[in-house]
Amino acid sequence: MTVAAASPLSRDLIDSLFPPALPEPAHWEERYPPRGLPAGAEVTRFAPSPTGWLHIGGIFTASVNLAIARQSGGTYLLRVEDTDQSRFEEGALAQFEAGFGYFGIRADESELEGITTGNYGPYVQSERAQIYASYVRELMRQGKAYPCFATREELAQITARQKATGALPGYYGDWAVWRDAPEDQVRARLADGDPYVVRFRSPGVGARRVSYTDAIRGELTADDNRNDVVILKSSENALRLPTYHLAHVVDDHLMRVTLVVRGEEWISSVPLHHQLFDALGFERIRYAHIAQLMKQDGGSRRKLSKRKDPEASVAYYIEQGFPPEAVQYYLRGLANGRLAELPLPEALAAPIRLEDFGSAGPLADLVKLEDISADYVATLSGEEIIERVSAWAQTYDQNLVKTLDTERSVALAALTVERGPLVQNPRKDLRKWSDFRPVYGFFFPSVFEPVTDPSDERFADLDPNGGLTPDVVRSLADGFAKGYVPPSADPDADADWFDQVRSLATSLGFAKNKKLYKKDPGAYPGSIAEASGVIRILITGSKQSPDLKQVCAALGTDEVLRRVRAVLLHAAHRASSAALPRHR
Ligand code: GLU
Repeated sequence: MTVAAASPLSRDLIDSLFPPALPEPAHWEERYPPRGLPAGAEVTRFAPSPTGWLHIGGIFTASVNLAIARQSGGTYLLRVEDTDQSRFEEGALAQFEAGFGYFGIRADESELEGITTGNYGPYVQSERAQIYASYVRELMRQGKAYPCFATREELAQITARQKATGALPGYYGDWAVWRDAPEDQVRARLADGDPYVVRFRSPGVGARRVSYTDAIRGELTADDNRNDVVILKSSENALRLPTYHLAHVVDDHLMRVTLVVRGEEWISSVPLHHQLFDALGFERIRYAHIAQLMKQDGGSRRKLSKRKDPEASVAYYIEQGFPPEAVQYYLRGLANGRLAELPLPEALAAPIRLEDFGSAGPLADLVKLEDISADYVATLSGEEIIERVSAWAQTYDQNLVKTLDTERSVALAALTVERGPLVQNPRKDLRKWSDFRPVYGFFFPSVFEPVTDPSDERFADLDPNGGLTPDVVRSLADGFAKGYVPPSADPDADADWFDQVRSLATSLGFAKNKKLYKKDPGAYPGSIAEASGVIRILITGSKQSPDLKQVCAALGTDEVLRRVRAVLLHAAHRASSAALPRHR
């Protein structure tokens, strides 16, 4: 299959392009011996490029690789693919580390924070230049690769001519002008110091089709590669690095990887990669190409995009404080419907079966994730939630850390309101740790800002008829505070606790129900519903809250009264409100 013809270039010339002390491939083969793992043990890897922040799909691919290694008793390694130095982004590596840390994806072998674990490193491609060079030289000696001096302009001219004549695009066959260039021509260009790349001499011909088996997609057939692809980048670069194609093949061979699980964007490169494995005399590796996450955008679907969608970024999930278990469960369920049917702990513990994965890109859906996450948080104890909110808040909300620390008993009491293992339908109001402050903040005396203004907009919002004048609000507050009966310690007792609000409202002339009030809005300041709304806003700051009796029990009498009375201390309005029209 491979082109066995000797290079038209002499060995002298080829060797002169490389440092004399460059080791032979045999040296690397010996340095990185087969791993001797038991049969069936998979060696997998995740190989991100530090060219920007990590896509959430990357976390998924990494965790699938990790799970497959774990479940088979193999090894999972992390390789940093930084051959594209011009696109290197400062900070990308730190971001990877944060992402892997958050999601608990720990590699058996890697090179992070300057620490290398594993015997198959370096695990950063820019540190492996010498290894690649050995194999490029060998390919050249065997006539399977050659230097190409074509300039950007010359390549553009070739493309233009192909377009004009209807020929297939690419650098191949007769279009590959440096493929069989005579030695003196090469020497002349070298003598002039012209930069060159090294191209692979593709054995692909004509319209040949090739077949292979993908561990997710099954048997696939594709056009063979015919292009003489660049394998070693331009000699202009101080550090001479290969392209992804060569680096992938050399690294996955020498790191003794057994299964490459990677994004589907590489599927069209498989024929080329197989040619390279064959040309180098390496055994081919199994591939599994994972479908990319999609997003519904109006009427159509498109790829979840780093540029357009904040939720494409791993940082989004960390900043919002989504529990990693929930995100993992969600991602697994997306890729594999069978796992979505199982409860979270079982789904995460279930072995990954690549053949169960779909080949169509699943639709990312934040609403679904939030539901999954709320269900998951509802299974945690108050202690666990506080622990995890605090850990998240260390980075994102320092004041909340202090509050949770100094008012831990308040936090625990708050988290027993309609929650906990004994509650039939626990509240599912926490989907992510950043929800804690907006949802539970009002429980904390240090966070809650009592309502001091009786004409606060929140009251007006309760009733557009305007019945809740500052006077009415104050009367409700005053009456509630004076007659306040705290809930008893037994949560099942005093089912009629709320009656105190009802009778207060009635005594202040509120309608018994909404219907009565609607019939003759001018006759009442509101109905009992509006009156309760005022009390709820005074105590919680919002017209929606967990069960008020339980909230009051958690707050304690002093704090309830402090909140309710705050609105009575508002001197300015007390004076002016006398002038406001009164209800009869
Ligand atoms: N560095 C490649 C990327 O970021 C990795 C592809 C692979 O897993 O082989 O897409």
